[in-house]
Amino acid sequence: MEKGLLIVVSGPSGCGKGTVLGGITKELGLCYSVSATTRGMREGEADGVNYHYLTKEQFEALIAEDKVLEYTTYCGNYYGTLRDEVESRRNQGQDVLLEIEVVGAANVKRLCPDAVLIFIAPPSVAELDRRLRKRGTETEEVISARVAEAEREIRCASQYDYIVVNGALEKAVDDVASIIKAERISAVNKENLISEVLNS
Ligand code: 5GP
Repeated sequence: MEKGLLIVVSGPSGCGKGTVLGGITKELGLCYSVSATTRGMREGEADGVNYHYLTKEQFEALIAEDKVLEYTTYCGNYYGTLRDEVESRRNQGQDVLLEIEVVGAANVKRLCPDAVLIFIAPPSVAELDRRLRKRGTETEEVISARVAEAEREIRCASQYDYIVVNGALEKAVDDVASIIKAERISAVNKENLISEVLNS
């Protein structure tokens, strides 16, 4: 059996990555990896669905037991990908999707060079600023901090395999789906398939 893909998606807050991924995860049968975090649960979130919500001590115990594939601290909290969410599923041929920030994505690429990294960018920083304001959920200070963080993240986009600009949602969904479909038929690591074709 072919090993499943490891698809890593990053993008700044407000770029619409959740909406883009929501449009394809089910359709393409991707397995969403639920990360662990020490940040508090937000309204509308559920434990084991959005994140596994842990205390700092619980998170550090998992690190010590080598159960965390990668982790980082973001805005004062730990966020990490659990090995259990990724490795066994990939070995069963399932494609696993990680939605993580840029430092984590670089670490995953180092640890798993076959990971496919996709960066979702807003059409411009000015548009991102407009979208964050339109949400109306953040203070001026938080919006400025998020825009500054977004600029830092966008500067890291060249470390990714693909950049998808989310200007028109339908086009962005289509682009991400096309990448995943193409990666599924990529000739990389297809030795099993080739010998199957030759020997059957
Ligand atoms: P939020 O608190 O808004 O849910 O997430 C904050 C940031 O942490 C987002 O950029 C999100 O993609 C990132 N993140 C979520 N889970 C993980 C993870 O397991 N590892 C890393 N490195 N970043 C994560």
